[in-house]
Amino acid sequence: MRIICFALLIMINVLGEAMAEKPNLIVIMADDLGYGDVSCNGSKTISTPNIDKLAAGGLRFTSGYCTASTCTPTRYSLLTGTYAFRVKGTGVAPPNAPALIQPGTPTIASMLQQQGYATAVIGKWHLGLGQNAPDWNGELKPGPLEIGFDHCLLLPTTNDRVPQVLVEDHRVRNLDPNDPLWVGNQQPTPDHPTGSSHRSELKMDWSVGHYGTIHNGISRIGYYTGGNNARFRDEDLGDEWVQEADRWIQFNKDRPFFLFFASHDIHVPRVPHERFLGASGMGPRGDSIVEFDWCVGEVMKTLDRLGLTEKTLVVVCSDNGPVLDDGYKDQAVELLGDHQPAGPFSGGKYSVFEGGTRTPFIVSWPGTIQPGTSDEIVCTIDLASSFASLTGAALPDNGFLDSFNVIDALLGRPGAKGRPHLIQQDNTGTKFGLRAGDWKLIRQVGKGPKATPKEALYHLADDPDEKHDLAQQQPEEMERLRELLNNALTSEGTRPK
Ligand code: CA
Repeated sequence: MRIICFALLIMINVLGEAMAEKPNLIVIMADDLGYGDVSCNGSKTISTPNIDKLAAGGLRFTSGYCTASTCTPTRYSLLTGTYAFRVKGTGVAPPNAPALIQPGTPTIASMLQQQGYATAVIGKWHLGLGQNAPDWNGELKPGPLEIGFDHCLLLPTTNDRVPQVLVEDHRVRNLDPNDPLWVGNQQPTPDHPTGSSHRSELKMDWSVGHYGTIHNGISRIGYYTGGNNARFRDEDLGDEWVQEADRWIQFNKDRPFFLFFASHDIHVPRVPHERFLGASGMGPRGDSIVEFDWCVGEVMKTLDRLGLTEKTLVVVCSDNGPVLDDGYKDQAVELLGDHQPAGPFSGGKYSVFEGGTRTPFIVSWPGTIQPGTSDEIVCTIDLASSFASLTGAALPDNGFLDSFNVIDALLGRPGAKGRPHLIQQDNTGTKFGLRAGDWKLIRQVGKGPKATPKEALYHLADDPDEKHDLAQQQPEEMERLRELLNNALTSEGTRPK
């Protein structure tokens, strides 16, 4: 008996040591932050010292991508490792959208949970809640907790979509049952104040679409009533994420953890905390970038305080490229000056041009990653398979269908390659970009927006802003990429077998 106990103790010890070697993993995803919106990518017009510090001590990618130029499909792909265009209903989710990732779908969180990780998502969700629709006054499930997260504190949709409440695990936080929350897409009563009826009283006027229910002096997309005790102040969201991340990391400091820190910054309405007002000289958009940078710094301070910095791999990325006027009159255009939100690239949010999906992408792991810059192609969709590789997890047969294991490239190991090609999705689901090496194909499938061509070929190394269509001069390259794109779109997955 004593021998068995002793053997058991050794086993637990060995397991504990193996577990202790697994790094903590944090993905900090900004919202609508462009490649040129951080100073480490060359901007002289904005200062992001905390992100720059991570880049200086880690690896900064010049070809780091998300999969789509809008929020929901990129987040879907990050969590599932599968291109969102393969799954219907993964476009920009409305306020009452049901859960878009069904329980049982392998996710980056469920994979890490099975590897013994504590898992949490703190911040913007925008992937739907509930079986058919969110039950705002009851249990909000399925949601993150049904697909691999132990804990969540969520902005359930976006800050410009109703309702302005936080969801903690399965319930709206601080909801008074005597003041139930109602959410809908129709004005509930003729006298319900909206951005149309009370426009002159708004503290931030809308330009397009945001004329629904007013909260905090700002009208939103959609309508809601009740839940007054649960409503947040937009100005406090950054602090909410930081405080909750600090609490949760401290609670889990002695075991490996995975945190998806999903900031609402710099999505509209851009309402940073009062202490950041005027910090950028570019109005609310620039000030929100400063707030996001502050959040990054605060997360790193928590790691430093707990002695976890060298045990933690941190990725800083964005869910799509930049946009200026995205439905509110917040002077983003007027105060832009010489700032180039997409850096040297064309397009931005909603577009298949590079600016739509090529974003800031930094990987930090002090003591393990040799600091530098990498031109390898990596994407947020690859984190699922790459983290599986890093933690010794098997890849699921029925998941991570387009997630490449590029962990060696992410860690900057000598000679390591990123992915050979990447599909970029616009907000209509009808236009695709295909980056393959230095080449970029744009191709329309069905009816699509007119802002980008129906079909074009660019050589990104010579023409990063996609101005010179080489389709006529390069018919063979064109055909090769057409075939590659068609095969990828019609296949069940592009992950190497
Ligand atoms: Ca976004």
